[in-house]
Amino acid sequence: MTEPLVDTFGRVHRDLRISVTDRCNFRCTYCMPVEGMQWLPRSEVLTFEEIERIARVCVERFGIDSIRLTGGEPTVRAHLPILVGKIAALRTGGDGPPVDVALTTNGATLRSVAGDLAAAGLRRVNVSLDTLRRDRFVELTRRDEIDHVLEGIDAAVEAGLHPVKVNAVVMRGVNDDEVVDLAAFGRDRGVTVRFIEWMPLDADEQWRSGAVVSQAEIVAAIDAVYPVEPVARGHQPAERFVYRDGSGEVGVIPSVTRPFCEACDRIRLTAEGQLRSCLFAVDEVDLRELVRRGAADDELAGAIRRCVAKKAAGHMIGQVQFVRPRRSMSQIGG
Ligand code: SAM
Repeated sequence: MTEPLVDTFGRVHRDLRISVTDRCNFRCTYCMPVEGMQWLPRSEVLTFEEIERIARVCVERFGIDSIRLTGGEPTVRAHLPILVGKIAALRTGGDGPPVDVALTTNGATLRSVAGDLAAAGLRRVNVSLDTLRRDRFVELTRRDEIDHVLEGIDAAVEAGLHPVKVNAVVMRGVNDDEVVDLAAFGRDRGVTVRFIEWMPLDADEQWRSGAVVSQAEIVAAIDAVYPVEPVARGHQPAERFVYRDGSGEVGVIPSVTRPFCEACDRIRLTAEGQLRSCLFAVDEVDLRELVRRGAADDELAGAIRRCVAKKAAGHMIGQVQFVRPRRSMSQIGG
């Protein structure tokens, strides 16, 4: 029997996002500075065994049934398939169904690791790709890697990972003229593209509300060329739309203009073992300290419960009460 991980608003948490590293091989302008990131010393980053221990308590005790590995860039962490294998072996409630293991990656090295990750038990992957134009890709990511990312998407499909989704952050005046091209790319390759509204989590603090391209604008642009109709959202943050001609679906994650906080079922573990109840949480609970001093599962579970109990109703972006978190996206784990 699992105990639901429920907050004061009645939201039951089933989804754990684990950042396996704060390091990244890209420097996307909307996320990281060009230089000057202070990386965590290796000793502060959770080991695979420590990650597994925390994940085990979440899965066996609280019925967390979905775990996504992220970063930083998760594929820069050595031996990632070993961690995937450890997580994939966890069973909900201890003897229930296996946990659903997913990965979010920039895709640059996916062509060489997709097979090993799938063999280790990875089921699904989201690859970030904000533009199809080489020059713009270089400007946005500060790396000339678009060919490798495109190969990585194909490799993920070939490795049997399903679904393969493509995440694109849309910014006004930067890549909003590519919404239809990216949608067409998804239709052609048989992958679901999900457009993400830009959030105030960039290290350079350049985010402005005027640069956010809203879900309404994104869907209108797609619908004008490839007519779509909405389908039920469920617990997913993405609002989903199917193409009326049957060529799959497209999604928008409208974190800013239509936040899904009231249905949020996520908690997040940073690379150094801080548990957060929200991307925009200002408080964290130090699980690494508990694990390293040999705390029992009950104490760990109590700390996880306390973190979730403090979860705010919503993130308040655009309201006077909004407080920007101290960490940027790559330091939290997107
Ligand atoms: N490196 C991996 C990647 O590129 O997918 C995983 C980590 S990255 C922080 C996870 C996702 O967060 C990516 O899809 C990225 O585009 C998105 N992201 C980063 N900064 C963002 C921001 N300020 N607003 C919205 N999405 C952001």
